[in-house]
Order: sequence, then C-alpha cells, then structure tokens
Amino acid sequence: MSDMMKALVKAHPEKGLWLQDVPVPEIAPNEVLIKIERTAICGTDMHIYKWDEWAQNNVPVPMVVGHEYGGIVAAVGSTVKRVKVGERVTGEGHVVGNRSRNARAGRFHLDPDTKGIGVNLPGAFAQYLALPEFNVIPLPDDFPIEIAAIMDPLGNAVHTALSFNLVGEDVLITGAGPIGIMAAAVAEKAGARRVVLTDINDWRLNFAKTIAPRTVMVNTRDQDLKQVMSKIGLREGFDVGLEMSGAEPAFNQMLNVMIMGGNIAMLGLPARPFPVDFGKLVGKALTLKGVYGREMYDTWYKMLALLDSGLDMSPMITHHFAARDFQEAFDLMETAKTGKVIMDWTQI
Ligand SMILES: [Zn+2]
Repeated sequence: MSDMMKALVKAHPEKGLWLQDVPVPEIAPNEVLIKIERTAICGTDMHIYKWDEWAQNNVPVPMVVGHEYGGIVAAVGSTVKRVKVGERVTGEGHVVGNRSRNARAGRFHLDPDTKGIGVNLPGAFAQYLALPEFNVIPLPDDFPIEIAAIMDPLGNAVHTALSFNLVGEDVLITGAGPIGIMAAAVAEKAGARRVVLTDINDWRLNFAKTIAPRTVMVNTRDQDLKQVMSKIGLREGFDVGLEMSGAEPAFNQMLNVMIMGGNIAMLGLPARPFPVDFGKLVGKALTLKGVYGREMYDTWYKMLALLDSGLDMSPMITHHFAARDFQEAFDLMETAKTGKVIMDWTQI
C-alpha cells in the first residue's frame, strides 16, 4: 500500500475543493483505517465548498472534507477488538471525548467536546479514513455500500423523527431537503396517521413522493397550509412538528398550526437568529426539543432495524459520479435538484 492517497481538500480559504495527494492517515492503537468505497455529499460539505460565513468560522484550512461514507476495514490498531479487517463499515462522524458530564453519563451525543469528521478532523472524501474503533459501525457483508454512505443523514432523520411518539399522530415536516424527505418516510413507517411535508421547491416535493408515497406535499408558496389541513381532516392541528429547514417562515408557520400541547423537534439550523412568537409556544403549551447529530448508538441501532424491516432508502440516491469527477458533482448539488449524490472512490 502506498503511503500517499488522493483526497478532496479545502486547500484555500475561497470557494472550491481541490483533489490532492496527501499522506494516508496513520492510525492510533484504538483506531481503524477504512478504505473508502463510496461517499455522499452533505449540505455541510456545500457550506464548506462555498466557503460561507459558517465554514469560515468553523473549518481550519487545509482540511480533508466529507463525513458520509461506506467502506471496508483496511487495518486496525493494536487495541482494536470489535472490528475486523475486511469488514464492511460506515461510521459515526462525531468523535466525542470522555471528560464531560454528559460523556461520563453515556450521553455521548451531548458531549460539548465533540469534533466532526470532515469539519475539524480529517474527513472521508479520501481513499482512506482513520476513525476511533468506538465510532465504527460494522454492517452485514451484503449491505449496499451506497446505503452505507447515506446513513449519517438518515440518522439525523431517524433521531429527529423518533424524538416523539408518532403512532397515530399527525405530523408536519417543514423542509424537503434529503433529511426532511427521509424523516417523512420514517414517520410513515413509524405509524403516523397523516404526514405533511412543506417546502417552496417543487422539484424536491415531487421527488419526495417517490420515497414517502403517503405523505401530503405542500408548496407553501402557492398553497394555503390551513386549507390543506381541513381538506385532509385535520381539525385541531398537528401533534408533532419536525422542523428541518432552519427557515423563519417555516418555523413560525409551524407554531401556528400545532395542536395544544403538541411536540416540536427542530433539526434545521438557522443561518442567523430570527424572531419567534414565543407567546404562541407558551399559549399552546408546546414542547420544543433541539436535535443535534445522532444518539450514540441507539439511533444507529434503530436505523439498522428500520432498514432491516423494509425502510427503502435506495430512491434517495439520484446521481453517481467517479470521485475524480467531483467538480461535476458539486456543480450539480448547487442546483438543489438532487437527492443524495454519490462519489465512487474506487474510480479516482
Ligand atoms: Zn451530513
């Protein structure tokens, strides 16, 4: 094995990514070296690609980016016991510490010392990735490698959607990006009665129908949500809201259409602070829960169980590129008319 590899690097503090030769990561005794087979492009990668304000404040340069991947274990450190060379794997991209109160209590997803693969630790848009054994998710040998590459965002969707009991409930999801669409499919599978997905992008709402066929799609630019609600027999409001857009109008509309005592889980990250009518939150006795990442590792357990019991995420993948053609993939992502876009690292 050569000691150099190809990787997509945020090499300069400006728009773009650069395919460069970098050293293959060395693994510590508790780490696993993963040969990357497929990766998927995330919204986070687009922030870093475009070099927006968030990226400028959070990502050191140079940095190998990317955190959604499936691969094969190529080597293991001397203390690694649970993971074997040759196993098919993906991994949790949040690397946690063991000092904070939450980490010590086993609430790893709430550890304030978390570092992110491809954000402030070397990432997965590369031929090899080093990852702590603790973060490695072994998969069955016949597990589709492209589905492995989209488990990170599916985990966000599962974590958010299962924040509250959905059985027999009416669910509003605001934001039809990939995670919102996946959440609609999860809500259907988890036993929700009505699921409504809103966005202002018709392409996304149409695409969502292929993954969440029972969900009612509403373009809030040209449809009145309250009219849609009365048409589908929803009199008192939504029991559960899943906010996936981070957009002010979507969140404030959600407050307007929730039932008294309803529950909201919010994953969408607002780009900047926005005004909220908290009088409605209080007056309706709503519960609001912020959601970050995936629970380690219960979300992963649930995700694998949902996939095993028939949740089909394969239609989420709309485009495939050789990793060497990454620029085409990022240009396409900028159109916002895609599901998940895969890059093949065996074609570099
Ligand atoms: Zn992601």
